[in-house]
Amino acid sequence: MSKLVAIDLDGTFLNPHYTISALNADAVKKAQQAGAEIVIATGRANFDVQRLFEDEQLSTWVIGANGAATYDPDGKLSLPSPLETIYAKEIVTWLNDENYYYEIVTAKEIFITSKAKQVLQDEMDIVHQDGRSEMERARKRQLGQANIKEIDDYIEVFQAGDEIFKITIVSFDEERRRSAADTLSKKGLNLFSSADFNLEIVSGKASKGIALKKLAKHLDVEKEDIIAIGDSMNDLPMLEVVGTKVAMGNATEEVKQHCDYTTGTNEQDGVARVIEKEILQK
Ligand code: CA
Repeated sequence: MSKLVAIDLDGTFLNPHYTISALNADAVKKAQQAGAEIVIATGRANFDVQRLFEDEQLSTWVIGANGAATYDPDGKLSLPSPLETIYAKEIVTWLNDENYYYEIVTAKEIFITSKAKQVLQDEMDIVHQDGRSEMERARKRQLGQANIKEIDDYIEVFQAGDEIFKITIVSFDEERRRSAADTLSKKGLNLFSSADFNLEIVSGKASKGIALKKLAKHLDVEKEDIIAIGDSMNDLPMLEVVGTKVAMGNATEEVKQHCDYTTGTNEQDGVARVIEKEILQK
């Protein structure tokens, strides 16, 4: 009887330095050798995940862009749920007019405008709060993603006609994040926050939970044989559709309350511990 382990990436599989520990990588490989299927479920784009996988030579299923795009271990896209172009254009136009930092994520690239990049820098200077180093970390995380492409005008993306999987907003101003969420939540879209200061917009048909359910059906794995590990609110949809729900030691209180048990933090290789307990010792 095969098992499926769904693992969130940031704050879960990745350590606080945004890398994969040798212990976690090893645990995944051993689980695969033992016949388990592994899926990384993340807000990030697949090509960004693959860049992180390179050093450890990992290959797993990937649910990317918060459920908008699922890839098999060979990197082939299946079961995509892109944003409807008409909504995507409306959202981007609004974000651009309101001077937000936003990213447009397609199958191959992450588009940002030079104007948006400057907005993020300016916000950091305006919002005086204690978390300056956290803001700097978040900014580096965004701009350090793979395949970021700077363009002059967002309209170029729509002219190219590529499918848009996700639009990411980053703002260090809580009020502005709330305002964006209020304005954009009216259109039958799914809004998630997968990292500090961010807001991710995907199709109303996309979530980690919906994608995981589809994948489990495809792999013929029953709900009680699925284990999911996560740390934040955007993991709740996937935790809801599995038999064993595990929270990271560094997860939010709300996530911990939803779970069956809590493992170590992402600094303590919490994922490796779960794989050891649920797969390798059984
Ligand atoms: Ca996370």
